[in-house]
Amino acid sequence: MAELRFDTKKIKAGYSPLDNNLAISPPIYQTAAYDFKSTEHAQNLFTYKEAGYLYTRVGNPTVNYFAERVKALDGAKNVVAVGSGMAAISYTLLNLAVGGGTILASPYVYGGTIDAFDRLFPEFGVNIKLTDAILDPEKLDAEITDDVKAIYVESISNPNAYLLDIDAISEVAHKHGVPVVVDNTLATPYLYRPLEHGADIVVYSATKALTGHGNLIAGLILDNGDMSLYTKERYPQFYKPIVMLGGKSPADIFPDNFFIFRAILVYLNLLGAALSPQDAYLGIIGLETLSERVSKQSKNAAKIAAYLESSPAVEWVRHPSLASYKFKELADKHLTNGGGGVLSFGIKGTPEQEAEFLNNIKLFHYHVNLGDARSLIVDSPNTTHSELTEDEFKLAEIPRNLIRISAGLEDADDLIEDLEQAFKAAGLL
Ligand SMILES: *Cc1c(COP(=O)(O)O)cnc(C)c1O
Repeated sequence: MAELRFDTKKIKAGYSPLDNNLAISPPIYQTAAYDFKSTEHAQNLFTYKEAGYLYTRVGNPTVNYFAERVKALDGAKNVVAVGSGMAAISYTLLNLAVGGGTILASPYVYGGTIDAFDRLFPEFGVNIKLTDAILDPEKLDAEITDDVKAIYVESISNPNAYLLDIDAISEVAHKHGVPVVVDNTLATPYLYRPLEHGADIVVYSATKALTGHGNLIAGLILDNGDMSLYTKERYPQFYKPIVMLGGKSPADIFPDNFFIFRAILVYLNLLGAALSPQDAYLGIIGLETLSERVSKQSKNAAKIAAYLESSPAVEWVRHPSLASYKFKELADKHLTNGGGGVLSFGIKGTPEQEAEFLNNIKLFHYHVNLGDARSLIVDSPNTTHSELTEDEFKLAEIPRNLIRISAGLEDADDLIEDLEQAFKAAGLL
């Protein structure tokens, strides 16, 4: 059969009823462990001579079905699902930079990621350098020194909805033998597939639009299967013998998949943020409507953005659908399925009026998630990004009056009327 198209894969990929008593909906394998058939079977599983399940912290069929489906949607070669987006990000970057080194990172990223950059990675001897050179490949080229282990970016950024030129960034990074890691949470593979643009590793918070119902926490790490970038000189961790592997190294055991294999062996296994089979099941159900949800969210966000741009209560608006969008040319070229559900804007008023506005919103939920079926609104500088320093706010181009919206699946006109009445209640109209 020919390669299936995206919308067929999101229903079918990675799961076969034939392997599961013909059940059309994937069973939830609610088990902590799996019996060994014999001592030989146990030894084979432990030394990776034979594939199979052993213990749910490091592998579970339901979790695997979920991971395999996203792998198919992203066109990836290898995948592992983990317990959260933060686990996916931290396991990935530790796996690349363990033992020291620098990660060059986009300043236009999720607040929790910046928090990890400031507080977690230095504890492991990993230095993170936020750089706006990410917008300028020539400048970036000059910043990739010998101790750089990865470039880290978000494809569509949180909360600004900036869109980066992954093709150009990857070209420069590869010249130096350095992989590009893309957090594709806001875009989802429906809007953008980083591996098709030269990226090497993709991470997700599957908590957000990927699964889309605000009912689980999950993350994924995917890669393109090209292990040639991970040289012995720059990444010796993949070539070090491990006693448990009978003295072999991750690269010896899985020459085409040692990046994710080591992430499982060391970080998922020992730091332990495993995804539960229940949550993986909910994730699979969520994926079945990925295109329909993200398409409608993009349309609703575009309608709301246009309304906001025309409102005298609003100072500025950022969304890929707008003619005023900072990366319009890139958006027109790459975001052909829509601009995504996330937009941001600044109100034309005092901080007290902003608070009045938020306290009068009725339909939007006021909380920190995004990508949900429900529309969400949040004052990012005071909440999701409150851990940023003054310098980081400036570098990230997050004005103090920024309000982030994640458009849901309601009728856009009801959402717009809700914003209008809240502007009026705050004396902005
Ligand atoms: C939410 C989010 C994360 C963190 O994911 P969790 O599942 O909450 O751990 C990472 N990156 C982006 C862009 C996010 O929006």
